[in-house]
Amino acid sequence: MSTTPRNPLAHLTQELATLRSNGTYFELRILEDEQAAVCVYDGKRVINLASNNYLGFANHPKLREAAIAAVRKYGVGSGAVRTIAGTMRIHMELEEKIARFKDVEACVVFQSGFAANAGTVSSVLGREDFIISDELNHASIIDGARLSRAKIKVFRHKDVAHAEELLQEVQNEPGRKLIITDGVFSMDGDIGPVDRLCALAEKYEAIMMVDDAHASGVLGRNGRGSVDHFHCHGKVDIQVGTLSKAIGALGGYVCGSRDLIDYLRHRARPFLFSTSHPPSVAATCIAAFDLLEQEPERIERLWDNTRYLKKGFEAAGFDVGGRTTPASESPITPIIIGDSAKTMEFSRRLFDVGVMATGIVFPTVPEGKARIRTIVTSEHTQGQMDEALDKFVRVGKEMSIL
Ligand SMILES: *Cc1c(COP(=O)(O)O)cnc(C)c1O
Repeated sequence: MSTTPRNPLAHLTQELATLRSNGTYFELRILEDEQAAVCVYDGKRVINLASNNYLGFANHPKLREAAIAAVRKYGVGSGAVRTIAGTMRIHMELEEKIARFKDVEACVVFQSGFAANAGTVSSVLGREDFIISDELNHASIIDGARLSRAKIKVFRHKDVAHAEELLQEVQNEPGRKLIITDGVFSMDGDIGPVDRLCALAEKYEAIMMVDDAHASGVLGRNGRGSVDHFHCHGKVDIQVGTLSKAIGALGGYVCGSRDLIDYLRHRARPFLFSTSHPPSVAATCIAAFDLLEQEPERIERLWDNTRYLKKGFEAAGFDVGGRTTPASESPITPIIIGDSAKTMEFSRRLFDVGVMATGIVFPTVPEGKARIRTIVTSEHTQGQMDEALDKFVRVGKEMSIL
């Protein structure tokens, strides 16, 4: 009889050992207070350039109050999935609010942006259909595409001519075609060619879908997103957005025609098989959409800060994208390093001197394109940005990156 202890998960231990030996193993950083421009992770005060809290909504006093009031009034949970008993009046109010904001017929809210994408793509398409997808689209789109069993055709990043070639290849196939792009790409901060892809969708009678997770609250009038930014109203059949980033809470949504939304309520699996948001989350999001209208100066400050920080990184000599990677056009500014282990080391050393900026490595970005991803918010002061820039320069020189 063998004396070796039973370990059917030994391959996981081996995989972790590989991560440790190539320098890409990480420990989670623990936030000790609230998500803010300056906050305490692992007991250390740091300037935070890592969150998606673009507009400071995650801790906005009015949103806190909205959440607390909803807890008092409705409790902490919805008690069921939406289709059984878990649709509260406040869920409906949020959906109506978003539909008006986006100027579409209807909206359905999911538990997360991930669930919105995965649940929508997988239910709208079937085995005989085709997905024409940008190579840098978000993982939730890719998972939704796989679940749909549709055939996935990937076009080179933002290469509309390549997307057209792929459409031509399948033009005479009976299946439906869906073109999909991120509005703002999460790892490079560049903007998807929504207008030109809409023209393709029209020409080839394809369904047009945009994932605006990083564009919601950031691009377009009052943060209405990339469709508004490109004046493509009425041309995007399926608009996905998130409530987890600029909106400050949690959730995702799909906007489109009344029939699209009705269909998703009958067929999207995260809607059918996963409990709806706590009422406090819905209340928070309702108040957040009011704030986008009431405090547009936050979005202006976000863009001012974006320009300031980007210029600072460039002036210091960092590769902020645009050389071997796409050029950022949003508050997401990557600092391209290349080597994974070096990137993780840079991130660790930045943390040690007081800057939180996450290293992003393979498989999240391609091999050889590892980077520090920075996201500035409307709430960072010029002093904080200057301090962060000084620290980037100091560590960059120490590590011979500059
Ligand atoms: C963050 C993100 C999502 C997922 O949104 P969550 O609400 O965090 O689940 C989807 N798509 C893109 C492009 C994202 O960046």
